[in-house]
Amino acid sequence: MTVLILAGSFYIGRLGAGVVASARLAKEAGTAETESGTDDRWKDGITVAVDAGHGGVDSGKVGVNNALEKEINLAIAGRLKALLEEEGIAVVMTREGDGGLYDEGESNKKQQDMKRRCARINESDALLAVSIHQNSYTDPSVKGPQVFFYENSAGGKKLASILQTSLNETLKIERPRECRANDSYYLLRKTEVPTVIAECGFLSSPDEAEKLVMSDYQEKVAQALCDGILEYAREEHI
Ligand SMILES: [Zn+2]
Repeated sequence: MTVLILAGSFYIGRLGAGVVASARLAKEAGTAETESGTDDRWKDGITVAVDAGHGGVDSGKVGVNNALEKEINLAIAGRLKALLEEEGIAVVMTREGDGGLYDEGESNKKQQDMKRRCARINESDALLAVSIHQNSYTDPSVKGPQVFFYENSAGGKKLASILQTSLNETLKIERPRECRANDSYYLLRKTEVPTVIAECGFLSSPDEAEKLVMSDYQEKVAQALCDGILEYAREEHI
């Protein structure tokens, strides 16, 4: 008899704790639980800004295979947009065509372009911004992705760290780099949300330049960025 009462109390106690824990999780997520226990409603209302670096008269870096950075950036940005939208995340792009964000008659096209990119990101109400670029260096053996964040941005550092890990793992980088602080890039200084510059690879590396123009590799890069963005966004919202 005693044993039965104890067993009953234990059962009720555990059940009670479970209900409390579930209610707390649901409250923190701002949503109710679904039967499966997974709930994607944390994604509601999240906007991500995706910036394809360069454009128009500004080709960016030119690869050893003559590939133009602006075109690779746009291809990866477009794939990232599609992947994020499949996940139910709203996306704002700074450019969707080849052209830059400057007026044809403008004397300082680069400055106008950069100002407008920042304005578009700041007006987008985005949770974060990812600017996509390709790197270049004098030594052709140097390769691998590297993500930069503004040194005074804790959110930017966290986002950069997550994206760096995701890129290193998804692209199976032999000698992985760490993300790096920067205090001078205009886009990092002038955006009001956690922003990172993702240098996806080196166009000065024959091996990496060849990969970066291939659609399946671009898709892998975009997937790595999408996975990282979702990880960051989930942690920020739950
Ligand atoms: Zn660039």
